[in-house]
Amino acid sequence: MPANIINGAKVAHKVLEDISQRVKKRLEIGARIPGLAIVLVGSDSASKIYVSKKREVCKKVGFLIYLYELPESTTQIQLLKLISRLNYDQNIDGILVQLPLPETINIGVIVEHISPLKDVDGFHSYNLGRLCNRTPTMLRPCTPRGIMTLLENYKINICRLNAVIVGASNIVGRPMSMELLLAGCTTTITHRFTQNLDQFIAQADLLVVAIGRPRFILGNWIKAGAIVIDVGINRLPSGQIVGDVEFDQAVHRAAWITPVPGGVGPMTIATLMQNTLYICEQKEMDNNFQRESI
Ligand code: NAP
Repeated sequence: MPANIINGAKVAHKVLEDISQRVKKRLEIGARIPGLAIVLVGSDSASKIYVSKKREVCKKVGFLIYLYELPESTTQIQLLKLISRLNYDQNIDGILVQLPLPETINIGVIVEHISPLKDVDGFHSYNLGRLCNRTPTMLRPCTPRGIMTLLENYKINICRLNAVIVGASNIVGRPMSMELLLAGCTTTITHRFTQNLDQFIAQADLLVVAIGRPRFILGNWIKAGAIVIDVGINRLPSGQIVGDVEFDQAVHRAAWITPVPGGVGPMTIATLMQNTLYICEQKEMDNNFQRESI
């Protein structure tokens, strides 16, 4: 029997609907509208597409967008100055610096300069550290968090499962391992230097793949009945978008599987919106608390 499809587009729609409603209510009571600053440096075509998609979703849920399109020649100091300004701007809840950045700019320095309280991407070492030491903040990397929301929505119980992650990037693989560990999985991260990858995959009750290589994970490697989450987004020369997993074969071995497109991708953006709204609501609660304490 083919696997059940985990429909990320549908779950993301539900999440975004909820956010829109909450923004509408805020408007009705005259509360501040959440504001997201998006900083795009240079002219990377994929980044431009990602930014325009994020803007589109921001508009849909009713957020204010502050877009900063900077030239490729922007220096690290100039970018740091802009972030300092955004950190103090009361109208801006979240700050997103679209990656990658030009080679002359150190990504680590930029990420650390964003206030951890406005860190919508959840990449700041404070938020990542809290995830690692089992005291997670609400600001967690969007793709892994979005995957957890997907699993929760489908009521897939993952506690005690043997989870294998393929890919160890800072934005997906590593934080994913922390999310799964928190959820009670026995977690293994595999990467470029892992030997006999297929043997690890054969043991996976839950497989998360994020490497960026089209159909690299063969369907017949997958354990029968596994949950397969494919994060990869790869464009073939034909223009077709495919994941990192050989979907057509995997769908006959897995119990649950995410498609590409329409699986993890929409959840990443929906989680970004959740994070932005959370910061706005939290700031307000803190302000009210301070007012009441005076
Ligand atoms: P990345 O930064 O390039 O990281 C890829 C990871 O895969 C690295 O850890 C790399 O190992 C590892 N890797 C490469 N070849 C491997 C192999 N043969 N076996 C095992 N591991 C291998 O990429 P990323 O940002 O995590 O993104 C991965 C994919 O997910 C891309 O297709 C990207 O477009 C997609 N993505 C999708 C979403 C979404 O919302 N759906 C979000 C983010 C990313 P090393 O660390 O040793 O180099």
